Amino acid sequence: MKYIDAVLEKTIKINPGEPEFHQAVREVLKSLEPVIQNHPEYERAGLLERLLEPERQVIFRVPWLDDQNRVQINRGFRVQFSSAIGPYKGGLRFHPTVNLGIIKFLAFEQIFKNSLTGLPIGGGKGGSDFNPRDKSDAEIMRFCQSFMTELYRHIGADTDVPAGDIGVGAREIGYLYGQYKRIRNAYEGALTGKGLSYGGSLARKEATGYGLIYFVDEMIKSKGKSFENSTVSISGSGNVAIYALEKARQLGAKVVAMSDSNGYIYDPEGIDFETVRKLKETDRERISEYVRVHAKAEYHPGSTGIWSIPCHIALPCATQNELNREAAETLVKNGCFAVGEGANMPSTPEAVEVFMQHGVLFAPGKAANAGGVAVSALEMSQNSIRASWSFEEVDSKLQDIMKNIYLNASEAARQYGLGDNLAAGANIAGFKKVADAMLAQGVV
Ligand code: NDP
Repeated sequence: MKYIDAVLEKTIKINPGEPEFHQAVREVLKSLEPVIQNHPEYERAGLLERLLEPERQVIFRVPWLDDQNRVQINRGFRVQFSSAIGPYKGGLRFHPTVNLGIIKFLAFEQIFKNSLTGLPIGGGKGGSDFNPRDKSDAEIMRFCQSFMTELYRHIGADTDVPAGDIGVGAREIGYLYGQYKRIRNAYEGALTGKGLSYGGSLARKEATGYGLIYFVDEMIKSKGKSFENSTVSISGSGNVAIYALEKARQLGAKVVAMSDSNGYIYDPEGIDFETVRKLKETDRERISEYVRVHAKAEYHPGSTGIWSIPCHIALPCATQNELNREAAETLVKNGCFAVGEGANMPSTPEAVEVFMQHGVLFAPGKAANAGGVAVSALEMSQNSIRASWSFEEVDSKLQDIMKNIYLNASEAARQYGLGDNLAAGANIAGFKKVADAMLAQGVV
């Protein structure tokens, strides 16, 4: 379609050197074609051009002192992409690979994800090229304090509410919140993923992993399959992966493989949740240490090898573009019938094509991993009314939200004659609400 092609071409031209952003935009625009065709008013309103230009992008210096009193400099980012349906909302990522293009792709995806939750939250994302690995606790704290010393002026409970992502967990959120509160002199919900003793929500830690399993469960149930007695592989061993492991096991699955960026473990007896949780959350160890405790388990260096392990359900929960065409073909050959993306954009476009061609049920990240941000929005509600809901209450709301996201994405796919294509359905359902809000608010 001419309008979409022109918008895509311009986006690539004016945002050079941002391949992940281009990839995310291309995927979304392609699936919006039938919607744009049905709504010529979107083109007249320049809606796509506006949607693709972040409302604000902040890049800042983050100076800090390491334990040897040497000055270190990192780069900080916050991309406030869209506030059409609510305050900007999206995590902070601390990882050496972070650059503007990565943050923009994540913030762009976040717009649709947040819309899909049905809650009033806009899209944003931020982070830094800081590498928390091998840093002392004091270094992490000094970095977080310096990062927040700039970030605080751009965020707030009604403006922009960051949370965690890769490299930003409970510890980092604590240091960031402490500094925010100190500078602002306000005890307000300007961050989510907070600890339970200072305004956090029960079930936030578990939300993305649990939500992923709730979504995939809906998807596979619609085809008469279930987690019960299924074999599952989960890449990564961070926040999302750990709680996907717990919930998948609770539903009767055997999780046989997990990984980190160095390698993967294979446990034919089923990976033990408590061992992984303790190793990663308490001891901050590598996943390779698992085999010291479980003699029958194996450790293999090289993280992508995890996709060569036969499984019925594959859950990529590590990072973008971690699962390529070759890995997808191997999974299909080995009998994999469903893929659920816990990470953001973990499957390359070629891998997704392989899944579609072979009828593998595919749950796209922006729908399947929306449980984290959904419970973050519930944390914002609890902070606003100064209340604290029980674990069961939050978990039950999370289940309802994930079920609705599944229903809305599958309904949108059906409505536009796209069959079981949940990736396109999620894009369409997420887009419609944002587009209508933008039209109603005029040229802003
Ligand atoms: P964590 O930092 O807790 O964990 C990330 C995990 O992925 C670690 O085990 C890390 O290993 C591994 N990893 C990172 N890069 C690679 C790689 N190139 N190959 C293999 N493994 C790798 O992050 P989260 O669990 O929070 O986030 C994981 C994904 O889920 C991200 O894509 C994130 O954007 C997405 N997500 C997270 C949400 C949340 O609520 N936390 C919400 C929605 C999406 P290592 O220790 O070696 O680096």
